[in-house]
Amino acid sequence: MNSSIIRIAALAGDGIGPEVMREAFKVLETVRKKYQLKLEVTEAPVGWAGIDAAGKALPDATLDLCRRSDAILFGSVGLPDRDPTLAKEERPERAALLRIRKEFGLFANLRPVQLPKVLAYACPLRPERQGDGIDILVVRELTGGMYFGQPKKTEEIPGGHRAIDTMVYTTPEIERITQVAFQAARLRRKKVTSIDKANVLENGVLWRDVVSRIGREYPDITLEHMFVDNGAMQLMLRPTQFDVMLCENMFGDILSDEAAALAGSLGMLPSASLGATTAGRTFGFYEPAGGTAPDIAGKNLANPIAQILSVALLFRYSFGLTDAATAIEAAVGKVIVAGLRTGDIFNPADPVARKVGTREMGDAIVAAI
Ligand code: NAD
Repeated sequence: MNSSIIRIAALAGDGIGPEVMREAFKVLETVRKKYQLKLEVTEAPVGWAGIDAAGKALPDATLDLCRRSDAILFGSVGLPDRDPTLAKEERPERAALLRIRKEFGLFANLRPVQLPKVLAYACPLRPERQGDGIDILVVRELTGGMYFGQPKKTEEIPGGHRAIDTMVYTTPEIERITQVAFQAARLRRKKVTSIDKANVLENGVLWRDVVSRIGREYPDITLEHMFVDNGAMQLMLRPTQFDVMLCENMFGDILSDEAAALAGSLGMLPSASLGATTAGRTFGFYEPAGGTAPDIAGKNLANPIAQILSVALLFRYSFGLTDAATAIEAAVGKVIVAGLRTGDIFNPADPVARKVGTREMGDAIVAAI
């Protein structure tokens, strides 16, 4: 019996959010029983659901709940067709997501990309480039670099304008994200590929120096450095060479989406955004990589796997509950091998594939746990 209480704020949001969250709840309940965890899961509205309930995309009560919790399990927010007159700053994507990232100092974004061999057809690469399956973890710095550096402005000059963005990183910022990458590699295949542009950018030189220094603290982990342009190419040519890819903010933004494309469907991809660690617990925000998928919402068509795998990440990275995390991931692997497919990963030419809905997929994963 794990004696300390794990408090989870569950914010389902809009579109397919509530449908896939319902399946994640079934998994949480199953894991709670199996491992005798003290879980306290509290739901609260966010996104358009927050606006409808309390006039704000991130209602005060929802934010308070998050502050009282150890981790946030998030669905997704935003409905492009709703009220185009609502100001950008008040729309859910900004008012909820960016606010939460800032409020909780979420500086590390982890995006695992897994393509099991049986889903080879869903990958845009030829099967011979996929080896025994693709399994990459992109670790992206989330609060520094070009997106936040100052000065950031557009000014008038004779004949037009001049736009300035500034790329800034400090040693402590690089150190903390590097520690996250090496710690994550320890739980995986023990290799870190650090991405930079040290041949052109001052930031790249500092990045490489700091990563190399931290790397010496981890003699059990293989470290290699790669320029970002080569990294983008290698992801297409030989994705199986990567275990953990460590990236600054902008490079990680681009490469994590490139890597995600290899998995074939957004419906399979979870993500974790981590903040500070206190007393052995890391505050984390866990969500599917995809959005609210308004085209399929409310039809029992959404793939719940990204949301369910987000629960696995929550157990692993916020609470160190590796057994619970692995049990969920193994159960997902089992149902995929058994042939269950939601529409986004269904291939009619596959003789073992059986098309199922959101609920049936969730039930099968629960049964496999
Ligand atoms: P989307 O990710 O919602 O959908 C893109 C495509 O992927 C759609 O065809 C959709 O059906 C499919 N898809 C996504 N998740 C799926 C799942 N679990 N199962 C099966 N298919 C799935 O992206 P979009 O259409 O560009 O955005 C819709 C809304 O979501 C927008 O308002 C956008 O701002 C928002 N959004 C929110 C987040 C977030 O909350 N973190 C992330 C991305 C987009």
